[in-house]
Amino acid sequence: MQSAAKFQVVNGQLIGARQISSPNYNQRPEDTEIQLIVIHNISLPPSQFGGGYIEQFFQNQLDWSVHPYFQTIAGMQVSTHLLILRTGEVLQFVNFNDRAWHAGRSSYLAKKECNDYSIGIELEGSDDTDFEDIQYQVLADAVASLQQAFPKIAHHLAGHSDIASGRKTDPGPHFQWSYFRALLAQKKQA
Ligand SMILES: [Zn+2]
Repeated sequence: MQSAAKFQVVNGQLIGARQISSPNYNQRPEDTEIQLIVIHNISLPPSQFGGGYIEQFFQNQLDWSVHPYFQTIAGMQVSTHLLILRTGEVLQFVNFNDRAWHAGRSSYLAKKECNDYSIGIELEGSDDTDFEDIQYQVLADAVASLQQAFPKIAHHLAGHSDIASGRKTDPGPHFQWSYFRALLAQKKQA
């Protein structure tokens, strides 16, 4: 698994990711350049992994009756560009050239509406669990490819909690930023 992912961005798609289409996207505003990556965590139900519920949620196909927690998110229409599962598998739901619905009310360096100009990456995880090493490896590979394709994001990586502070806590205290940044630096040299 260690050598797994080497990606390439072609026409807004990450080659090497499994493509699944989400209806939850729209166009980015005209003349908007992609200039930020936002890192998140998600698990459904919270802190439980596997099961395929996240994929169903992003496709508006989640059966709200399956779990009491699902009723608290019933009807929400959200998405992400990429989801990295605990296994290291990468799923793409929205083309990078389109606007995914992951950030909500947000601002980065005083610029509001991060969905307009960012790429969202969800890690299957929670605020109270360590991420898998393979997730860091794959995230670093994916971000290195994205930075090549969209040079403006080179220095703009944020957590959801950074752009929606007081409202969001992900990717949470278990996300090791320094480890991730070191890995990313290695991948960029390779
Ligand atoms: Zn988030």
